[in-house]
Amino acid sequence: MFSAIEIEGFLRSYGNSLFPTTMDAYLAADSRQLWGLRIDVASRRMLPFFGSISENDERLLNSRGFFDTIAGYRANVRTYFPDLSANCDVFLINTEALDYSNPLVQALIVHELCHWYIDSGLQASHAVAIDSAALSEGANLYAITTPSHHHDRDFCNLMCAVSARAIANDAPFATRQDLVNQAMRFDVLKESSHIYEVLNDDDGAHAER
Ligand SMILES: [Zn+2]
Repeated sequence: MFSAIEIEGFLRSYGNSLFPTTMDAYLAADSRQLWGLRIDVASRRMLPFFGSISENDERLLNSRGFFDTIAGYRANVRTYFPDLSANCDVFLINTEALDYSNPLVQALIVHELCHWYIDSGLQASHAVAIDSAALSEGANLYAITTPSHHHDRDFCNLMCAVSARAIANDAPFATRQDLVNQAMRFDVLKESSHIYEVLNDDDGAHAER
């Protein structure tokens, strides 16, 4: 089971290496904190995971009801909860996901960091370059992604571009497509469950399903 320290470590390491603006610089610019919460289905609550979250913060963050998801990222959370003790972004991860494989956990974190980069406004101001390969892979990905305003064309393009950067940085995936495949594993149409085959031209030796 992954610990809070390991999960926060992946977030900061990928957040500081895959994007033109580092997560450290983004957080420091507005004295912003990064908080982690664990989505706990058993108690139907979000529980503090990392960061200095007070009891009152925990109560506020749970005050709009429970929602069950694998992972999530929300920028500028004090916009929604003005009484929080700090300016913060919140990373969410389901307790169940802490038992997933190392590559899947890392892929889901890269996915959530793409949400961070778009939702914070950084992709608008300090864009990750989307090259022609990312554009074409992004179009394929978008075509098989469950319709959701969270996963629009821009998100799919960014997911593919960032995955290429991660592979260039020696992230533990066989190919960029393998990373995208795992990162989007819970977000593709059921009839398209073999994203890898759609995205990858080679022999499918790494297909996992
Ligand atoms: Zn997503």
